[in-house]
Amino acid sequence: MSVQTKAPALRLRLTAAAESIVRAGHPWVFAESVRRQNRLGQMGELAVIYDRHDEFLAAGLFDPDSPIRVRILHQGKPQLLDHDWWRRHLEQAQSRRAGLFDEQTTGYRCINGENDSWPGLVLDRYDTTLALKLYTAAWLPRLPEVVELLAARGNRIVLRLSRNIAGAARAQFGYEDGQRLHGAALDGPVVFQESGLRFEADVLRGQKTGFFLDQRENRRNVESLAAGRRVLNLFSYSGGFSLYAARGGAASVCSVDISRQALAAAERNFALNRHVPAVAACPHELAQADVFSWLREAAARRFDMVVLDPPALAKRQSERQEALRAYSRLLAGAVERLDANGMLVAASCSAHVSAGEFFDLAREAARQSGHGFEEWRVTGHAPDHPVTFPEGEYLKCIYLRVR
Ligand code: SAH
Repeated sequence: MSVQTKAPALRLRLTAAAESIVRAGHPWVFAESVRRQNRLGQMGELAVIYDRHDEFLAAGLFDPDSPIRVRILHQGKPQLLDHDWWRRHLEQAQSRRAGLFDEQTTGYRCINGENDSWPGLVLDRYDTTLALKLYTAAWLPRLPEVVELLAARGNRIVLRLSRNIAGAARAQFGYEDGQRLHGAALDGPVVFQESGLRFEADVLRGQKTGFFLDQRENRRNVESLAAGRRVLNLFSYSGGFSLYAARGGAASVCSVDISRQALAAAERNFALNRHVPAVAACPHELAQADVFSWLREAAARRFDMVVLDPPALAKRQSERQEALRAYSRLLAGAVERLDANGMLVAASCSAHVSAGEFFDLAREAARQSGHGFEEWRVTGHAPDHPVTFPEGEYLKCIYLRVR
């Protein structure tokens, strides 16, 4: 895969500190770490990094517009990044997921960005549709070759663009968010299976790539704990946790989300699984509301399990303190809604709040209830969402039984 340039290869040398960081496997080189560069680089071209002894160190995608100047594709022995290399690179991501899913699960992550050495690129499968999401413009000049590489692996490929690159993608490369790159047109959501449950994913417009695939293992846990319980699902989106709770034999499920579209999708997802007796038998209440106000207004209601999975409350470092306060309010409100022996399942996807900090907030909220609590377990990333560097960590979840 190559971006055609007549100029000599783009060669970079880094500060000693950055050199060690890259050698240790970190996938990012920041602009201020570039000590020398043989010429100006273009968006998405291959940058070859040499160490202080003029030995090959790494190769990656150059981005002249981002503070992350190079995203590493390969580090170690010198390699020609030719078509064969790219094919092997794709197969490596695939073999990492071998045996994880059977035919009951046709939606999962195939490539998890930096963590699979495909920096800034995510590939999710929904049945035979592939959603390709880009978080850096550096992939845009290579998109035709990426599509050629992926085309045999799905009937359809849909492009999704993170908000920060959508403008440049349109203006400089003519790509739109939701554009079909390969295969037949798509005019609505795709239906896929997760653990034998049927769900729709709005691949064209939905959040992330249309579904929160990263919560699969937590949803399975919720199913195993739900029997006979009245379950409250806060920030329900399209009802993922709600459906697993229903199949697990929940006495009732209440899904709360601010988005009417998300709740409409939750209703459709329940309809898609009516053939499952436990789902058909489970009363499902939908509440379109801001969770913060809903928790106040529903002060008298009690549940036996509360799932709390808000959106990232700290999207940047400066929002941390406010996010910690918001998490505390949500956790306290969720614990107050629990009846005796109720289970709190609380997740955070804020990369700027550590697992330790979040778990401590949850334990503190349980302690404040004055009833005593036990920890059932804590969980991290799903196996198809491996994490190989600190900045890649975001998801954590804690299960507390409040007596
Ligand atoms: N638990 C879900 C994913 C949650 S995503 C799953 O497993 O699929 C976060 C959801 O929070 C989105 O659906 C968004 O619409 C909703 N949301 C964001 N802010 C909200 C608020 N203040 N009150 C209620 N819902 C909110």
